[in-house]
Amino acid sequence: MTDQCGDEARDTSGWARVCFLANGHDGPHTDRHGYCWQDADVVLKRLQNRWGETHRVSCTGHMWMAVAHDPDAEWRTHIEPTPEQLEGSLRRHVEAKLPQPPVGHGGDATPTKGS
Ligand SMILES: [Zn+2]
Repeated sequence: MTDQCGDEARDTSGWARVCFLANGHDGPHTDRHGYCWQDADVVLKRLQNRWGETHRVSCTGHMWMAVAHDPDAEWRTHIEPTPEQLEGSLRRHVEAKLPQPPVGHGGDATPTKGS
C-alpha cells in the first residue's frame, strides 16, 4: 500500500490536477496525464522574490493574489487561479512600467538569503 501525494493544483485552463506520485516524492508534482507543477510554497517563494519589491504575493486556497504596495497603482490587486497567470498579469500591468528591461532567460542566479 502506497499513499498518494494528493497535492492539488489548477492548470492554466482551470482544471484541477491531483498528484498521483507517492507521498513524500522528490521533484515536481505530476498527475497521471503528465502535467507537472511545483509545490505552492516553492512557487510562492519564487514569486515573492521576483515581485516582492512592488507587490505582496500570497496564495489563498486555489487563488493566487498579488497586491501592489503602491496605493495609487493602476492595477492594485491581481487575482488568478494559477501562479503562471498571476505572473502573466503582473508582467502585463507592471513590468512594462519598470525602468529596467526584464532579466534574460536563465540569468537569475542571485542566491537567496537563508533565514
Ligand atoms: Zn506530489
